[in-house]
Amino acid sequence: MNIYVLLKQVPGTSDVKMDEETGTMIRTEHKNVINPLDENALAEAIRLKDIRPEVKVTAVSMGPPHAQKALREAIALGADEGVLLSHRGFGGSDTLATSKALAKALVTLAGGPLSNDDLVLCGDRATDGETGQVGPMVSAILDVPVMTYVRRIALEDHSIVAERVVEEGLELIKASLPAVVTVVKDINQPGFPTLSGKLKAKSREIRVLIPDDLGLSGDDVGLKGSPTRVVKVFRPRLSRDTIVHPQDTGGVAVDSLLSFLEERGII
Ligand SMILES: Cc1cc2nc3c(=O)[nH]c(=O)nc-3n(C[C@H](O)[C@H](O)[C@H](O)COP(=O)(O)OP(=O)(O)OC[C@H]3O[C@@H](n4cnc5c(N)ncnc54)[C@H](O)[C@@H]3O)c2cc1C
Repeated sequence: MNIYVLLKQVPGTSDVKMDEETGTMIRTEHKNVINPLDENALAEAIRLKDIRPEVKVTAVSMGPPHAQKALREAIALGADEGVLLSHRGFGGSDTLATSKALAKALVTLAGGPLSNDDLVLCGDRATDGETGQVGPMVSAILDVPVMTYVRRIALEDHSIVAERVVEEGLELIKASLPAVVTVVKDINQPGFPTLSGKLKAKSREIRVLIPDDLGLSGDDVGLKGSPTRVVKVFRPRLSRDTIVHPQDTGGVAVDSLLSFLEERGII
C-alpha cells in the first residue's frame, strides 16, 4: 500500500510579509519549517505504517530547492522517500496550478491512476497561504473521494473510515480507496526524528521532478496556468484614529460630538 503525504514548507512565523510590488510572499527572511498540519499528516502515515508494515510512505512537496530540507526531515521522521517538484516553470503557481502539478506527480509516482491500495494525506490548510483548497482540488483532479477535517482514521480492505470534525460535532464516514484525506491537529501528536532516521535522511536521495517529467507544459503551471490574479497587495491599517472631545462646562464637547455623529449620518 502507498501513502502519499503532501507536505509544504512554510515560513516558521505567522508574521508573513508580502512584496507589495510583485504581490508575492517574502519567504527568504524566515527560517522555513514543515507546515504544522502536514507534520500531523505525516505522523498519521507513519502510525498506519507501524500497523501495516507493507505501507510505503512518500512525502511529496512542490517548492524551491530548499524545500528538500523539509523532505529530509520527513524521512528522518519515518517517510520512506521524498519527492520534490521544483523548477522555475512551477514559480507563480496559484492553488489550482499547484494542485494540478501535485495530482500529476501522484499519477507519475503511482505509474498510472491511483489504485485501491493508495491513500493521499495532507494538512487541512497551510499556515502561509491558508486557503485549504489544495487537498480538495487534488482529489477533484484525480477524481477520487475527499474527506476533510479528519481527526481519526482506520484503514479497512481497500477502504477508509474517518471521523470528521463538523460544526454540530463529529461525523463518521467511509470511502473507498484511493482517497484524499485532509487532517486536523487533533488527529495525533507528531513525534521527533530518531538518530537512525536523521542518518537515513542524510544519505537518501530526494527525487526532483520538473514539469516535463509530469507531462505538463508552461501553460499548465506557473503564472500562465494560474487563473488567480492578485489585483493589489497592501497591509491593512490596524490603528484607529482617536478624536478627543474634552469635557467643559459650556457643552462644547457635546456639540462637537453631535456634529461629528451627524456628519457621518449616524444620528
Ligand atoms: C497568482 C499567485 C501566484 C503565486 N505564486 C507563488 C510563487 O511564486 N511561489 C509560491 O511559493 N507560492 C505562490 N503562490 C501561493 C501558492 O499558490 C500557494 O502557496 C499554494 O497553492 C498552496 O496554497 P495554500 O498555501 O493555500 O495551501 P492550502 O490549500 O491551505 O494547503 C492544504 C494542504 O495542501 C498541501 N499543500 C499545499 N501546498 C503544497 C505544496 N506546495 N506542496 C505540497 N503540498 C502542498 C499540504 O498538505 C497543505 O497542508 C501564488 C499564489 C497566487 C494566487
